[in-house]
Amino acid sequence: MAVIERKTVRSLPQKDTVVVCSRCGKISKIPLSRTQKRNFLARCTCGHIFRIMVDSRSWYRKPVMIYGKCRFNENEREYPMVLENLSLSGLCFRSPLVKKLQVGDIVHVAFELPDRYRSLITRKGIIRHINQQRAGMEFIQEQCYCKELAFFLQS
Ligand SMILES: [Zn+2]
Repeated sequence: MAVIERKTVRSLPQKDTVVVCSRCGKISKIPLSRTQKRNFLARCTCGHIFRIMVDSRSWYRKPVMIYGKCRFNENEREYPMVLENLSLSGLCFRSPLVKKLQVGDIVHVAFELPDRYRSLITRKGIIRHINQQRAGMEFIQEQCYCKELAFFLQS
């Protein structure tokens, strides 16, 4: 039995979005402004079928003050950082590393959630904006759903 591929799309309410077909690469518009559905099947013109999961919660940014570490790559120097806000799809942080960053850079971060398990969260992300010592990052592994992070953001 074929497993239907799932694609999570992040969306603000009433905004259309796009998905990329993983078989043919075609970009299809998903008209979310015309549907209330959060979970439905879509078919690309090439015949590939995938399930669209709409995630509006990932836009919610929780203000936090969490200490963590960040670095360019696995083997490079670690810098301390302070998270200022956090969502399922990204975070904003301050760090001495920010001085060396440019928009578009890929950065690795690691921090513990202040939950009872001190869940370790590690993410790779792309820097989307920089404002003096502060940088905003969007996570690259958008498909991976993190139960601990989702729970923390709702608490
Ligand atoms: Zn296709």
